[in-house]
Amino acid sequence: MRADTAAATDDIIVCHDVHKWFGNFHALRGITTTVKRGEVVVIIGPSGSGKSTFIRTLNRLEQHQRGEIFVDGIELSNDPVPHLTVMRNITLAPTKVRKLPAREAEAIAMELLERVGIPEQADKYPAQLSGGQQQRVAIARALAMQPNIMLFDEPTSALDPEMIKEVLEVMHELAASQMTILAVTHELGFAREVADRIVMFDEGLIVEDQPPDEFFNNPRHERVKHFLSQIL
Ligand code: ADP
Ligand code: MG
Repeated sequence: MRADTAAATDDIIVCHDVHKWFGNFHALRGITTTVKRGEVVVIIGPSGSGKSTFIRTLNRLEQHQRGEIFVDGIELSNDPVPHLTVMRNITLAPTKVRKLPAREAEAIAMELLERVGIPEQADKYPAQLSGGQQQRVAIARALAMQPNIMLFDEPTSALDPEMIKEVLEVMHELAASQMTILAVTHELGFAREVADRIVMFDEGLIVEDQPPDEFFNNPRHERVKHFLSQIL
């Protein structure tokens, strides 16, 4: 698929057969899913099923090793582009896809590099940077495209009840503002009220993908019934 083809559709996230290994451990075993602009997708599933790993491949804290991921029409490449400088890495998509003039893209890139704390690395190549610096470049590169997606990974899990309520309110508001949201959460009230779809992970695979009503009342897979009986 070409980037401009994907960008022209309503599909803001497209994952096709995404695999991720940690050593011998096969954490994501072929994730295929599509998220439309403005959709709210809640991801649930047992501990260790790959939910966080999936979110981390989307925000590039992890690299997938097989399959394809497109976010907003940009393919998230499996290997960094070693022959481009940090600056060029960040300005490439905005100039090619968003058609920003180079000067403007560079000014934005410098602001973003300052924001992530590595403005002095602009002219280096990623291979010359530490892992942490490379991740900050990846974040700056993503921000340069001004994405309209919010990824959450159990945003309320470490909070006390009052703060949980505040965070859920913010997420409600974001959802109402047409933001695309992918949220790993076991806040089933939120899932029921706000999600367009609930996706359940199990052992590195998507085992169910249904609107909340169907998901809770008429799940197709035994695994979902078992999981719901444990957490409800
Ligand atoms: P979840 O978020 O669904 O609880 P994770 O995505 O965090 O699950 O983890 C999925 C599996 O991958 C787990 O078995 C976990 O131990 C393993 N895993 C996650 N991150 C790493 C890592 N950096 N190195 C090795 N194994 C990992
Ligand atoms: Mg997790």
